Amino acid sequence: MILGLASGRFPVRIEEDPLLSDRARARLSSLVAQVGHRLPMKTAASSEMNLLFFLLNTGADLVHWVIPETDETGRAVAPTPWVQRYLHRWEREEDAKPKRDRLARGPAEQARFLYELDPANGSFLPPGLAACLYPQLTVACPGAIRYDYLLAGRRSRLADPDWLGIIPEASFPSPSLPRVIRVTELEKLSRCPFQFYFRVLAGLEGISPMEFSEDLDATEWGSLLHSLFDQILKSYDQSGCSVRQIAADILWEDGRKLSEAIQAFATDDSLAVCLRPPLLADLIRTRLFKTVRAYWEEVLSGAIPDGMNVRTESRNEAEFPTLPGLWVSGQLDRLDERRGELVVLDYKSGREPEHLNEEIRLGFRLQPILYPWLLLRNEPSFEEAGFSYVFLGGNGRPKEVAVPGTGNAEQWLVLLSAILKRGAYLPASNEALEQLGVEKANACQYCECASLCRRFERGFRSRVSSLLSEHLGDRVKSLRGEFGDSNAQ
Ligand code: SF4
Repeated sequence: MILGLASGRFPVRIEEDPLLSDRARARLSSLVAQVGHRLPMKTAASSEMNLLFFLLNTGADLVHWVIPETDETGRAVAPTPWVQRYLHRWEREEDAKPKRDRLARGPAEQARFLYELDPANGSFLPPGLAACLYPQLTVACPGAIRYDYLLAGRRSRLADPDWLGIIPEASFPSPSLPRVIRVTELEKLSRCPFQFYFRVLAGLEGISPMEFSEDLDATEWGSLLHSLFDQILKSYDQSGCSVRQIAADILWEDGRKLSEAIQAFATDDSLAVCLRPPLLADLIRTRLFKTVRAYWEEVLSGAIPDGMNVRTESRNEAEFPTLPGLWVSGQLDRLDERRGELVVLDYKSGREPEHLNEEIRLGFRLQPILYPWLLLRNEPSFEEAGFSYVFLGGNGRPKEVAVPGTGNAEQWLVLLSAILKRGAYLPASNEALEQLGVEKANACQYCECASLCRRFERGFRSRVSSLLSEHLGDRVKSLRGEFGDSNAQ
């Protein structure tokens, strides 16, 4: 079946990398041609004909052409020039006319059409589409293709709670489950238990196509910034300098020391930078320099408070209240002392979120609550500790945001332990929560588990909302703001 025979879209054109050498381009071009594509270099006029000829003669006994009438925005498109020639010719020669059908746009009609192409075996039916839309058609197909498991899944999905995240086998404590949960993982649990189960307990990751990008992705960029701050502060470890004195030193002579630190650091520590072509690696170093310099300028100007750095990148652990044997763990980016007060600092490479306080109140951000708690549990000599985010990204200047009121960590952990103890990893769909009176929490992030939680399925909202009230009533109350003691102050 040859899809997408629209003019200008077939053969599929692959954009060239402007940095490819002629030799590499020629080699790539020949490899790409072997799998039926063309690079847009010196494309011969016969390119489409060659490809059609190649595909038709290496395809199968019976070939279906799919000629779109519109593009994805609904604009009309024409068949490719060679397909138009075939169509004109077939119109003239009555005997040579192939079987032509218009394919409906709706998925249900498409499923029926594909079924009718081979009613004996249903071999043109994508199994998921067929089983979901036309179970009676799929069971009618005898032979090798079996759809029973899809049909059984369809029946179970909304009827059996374990399909919606009630998983007693994954209830804590259990020797087969992790003994340590990181604070960032608890944030996932707090936002959407279903996503936590699949990402953290089942260890599933979404697959995304690899693509070459001239820039670092957000995770690489974030870890680069963390490592650079760590390295800079460690180099002043024994100096007795305050943070503002470090800023003055590092910015001296137009940031010469910072520039040297970035050159040495990016060569030794970051493969992600070194493996890029020199020009792109230099661009990343320049961006790194500007971002980190802007932070130290804010420190020097007094917009970010002065203090003494106590330590950087330290891991703290404490036992989960009400779940003996399970530990909470957190990596503290930095600890400063400011006029006798300890402050945990957490770097964020992005900008300050619009609804930061609301996210903290709902428990979607637990670092401000749990990091100071972890610190005090590990260092009984400290009496109190505050928390601040350092936002380094966005269009504005770097900014430090202090988060007050972190005294209710254990209540949050007790609330979350109810989910873990029951194995109640229910999806936190916005619609189901709204049905329970939780307005605009935006817990669902439309993550890559959407096809597993099936939040778009008919009947999902009422089924999940009744399971949420049955199993996670206290968590729902806390989201509604009715569980006062468990919310951030
Ligand atoms: S799509 Fe939304 S409700 Fe479903 S698992 Fe992801 S975050 Fe949870």
